[in-house]
Amino acid sequence: MKSQQKDRRKQMSNLKDIQLYINGEFIDAASGKTFENINPFTNEVINYIAEGDAADIHVAVEAAHRAFHGEWGQLKVSERLKYIYKIADLIDEHIEEIAPLESMDTGLPISQTKNMVARSAQNFRFYAEMVSNRLVGEAYQVDDEFINYTIHKPIGVAGLITPWNAPFMLETWKIAPALATGNTVVLKPGEWSPVTANRLAEIIDKAELPKGVFNVVHGFGETAGASLVAHPNVQLISFTGETTTGSEIIKNGADTLKRVSAELGGKSPIIVFDDADFDRALDACTWGIFSFNGERCTANSRLFVQESIYEQFVDALKERIPKIIVGDPLNNETEVGPLIHIEHFNNVKKYIQLAKDEGAEIYSGEVPKEFGKGNFVPPTFLLNVTNEMRVAQEEIFGPVMAVMKFTDEKEVIRLANDTKYGLAGYVWTNDIKRGHRVAQGVDSGMVWINSQNVRDLRIPFGGSKYSGMGREGGHYAFNFYTETQVIHVALSDHHIPQFGKKN
Ligand code: NAD
Repeated sequence: MKSQQKDRRKQMSNLKDIQLYINGEFIDAASGKTFENINPFTNEVINYIAEGDAADIHVAVEAAHRAFHGEWGQLKVSERLKYIYKIADLIDEHIEEIAPLESMDTGLPISQTKNMVARSAQNFRFYAEMVSNRLVGEAYQVDDEFINYTIHKPIGVAGLITPWNAPFMLETWKIAPALATGNTVVLKPGEWSPVTANRLAEIIDKAELPKGVFNVVHGFGETAGASLVAHPNVQLISFTGETTTGSEIIKNGADTLKRVSAELGGKSPIIVFDDADFDRALDACTWGIFSFNGERCTANSRLFVQESIYEQFVDALKERIPKIIVGDPLNNETEVGPLIHIEHFNNVKKYIQLAKDEGAEIYSGEVPKEFGKGNFVPPTFLLNVTNEMRVAQEEIFGPVMAVMKFTDEKEVIRLANDTKYGLAGYVWTNDIKRGHRVAQGVDSGMVWINSQNVRDLRIPFGGSKYSGMGREGGHYAFNFYTETQVIHVALSDHHIPQFGKKN
């Protein structure tokens, strides 16, 4: 085991610096500037990243624009999809190499990044299948006079802006439908997690897509990201990140009438009724908040337990949580690793202090002493919380769960909905009618009944309220990544007014 970790570390110790990928070439930023990339486990510099800005975005967008109107746009769908399958195969071949890179760059445990990388390959394969099977139009017959039909056309250059919390998986979740439907792409990855975006560029380069079809510009949100949003030759922006950033992007995209999809923050409830399968609810609740180090948009960060089982459930959490394995993200056994960045770590710590100031009781696991250099926050839950406290209302985005009590269905639906967010929800009960009633009563884009956050790629993914705008996933992504065009065809000589003919 230890030797496997050592090998992984060795692989990481000679990582090269990261360039931009534009028009099929790996290049430095036009300004020559770079920024540091930090390892969250050691807080040492891993490598240096080319700092793209407006000038680089412009060159990338122009390359993507040319590719869209050139070779890529001319390809038959079947030819295009061969490239998408090839990317999926290449990712699959490199899971064992990409997963440690992702873990080192983000602090996410290796057992979880392996699944995320496998899912990334699946994103490409899934969208290749979806496009060949489901990208279909409709026909509207009007007696023997007309037939009107719809087709779905790619739109142009897709600007994809992604966060750091599950970088490779979230990037591919956007790139796969964008490319499979025939668009070209400029990706702006999260600045704290740039490594695997570049590995993906190498893979796409190896798959020999025509030049300019896929481009990556690293850099900061306010410069590189904002220039992508403002660029007139970018037709759409798919954004995942914080709610405030999403709202700024929507405003900034208005001048060029950008189509924007926004997958934003969450503060999702998990509701456990007294008739639930106790052990499974406990497993799901613990996994749902502490997996991905708690940096998960759909995390169940508010737990509501029915009062009759409240003490028992809290006791079970107290017993379970100190046993969660906190440690080196490259160790196969690790369940919770360090948070992405010292800045984010300080923010999460501030929330734990705020919880104390607001009168909550804090229960935390332990961080082993030898991991003192990393951004570790142990799995934590908060008791004596009420739903109006800031720690129950604001997204902490770390391994911290607020625990509350409820008496009945009506009350818990009210509490669950008393938040500005509406991304996910989880309901645990063995009363089938109540399960559906409560799920339908929760204001969120997605609700799971007696289930952890299991993903079915065919379903619409997205949030309501401050958690987002629009849906991606399944055929829903086609509404976003394609333009629906209608063609009206006359089948006979219908009446046409003859202005001016009489004279
Ligand atoms: P963030 O909003 O700070 O950054 C996301 C991306 O936006 C980064 O690439 C950043 O550089 C870029 N950006 C920042 N300002 C910009 C601007 N003005 N114009 C253009 N781009 C800009 O988010 P983060 O901290 O990286 O990620 C964490 C957040 O993401 C959390 O709120 C989490 O809930 C959310 N998230 C949501 C989902 C979902 O599907 N709903 C999934 C994962 C993460």
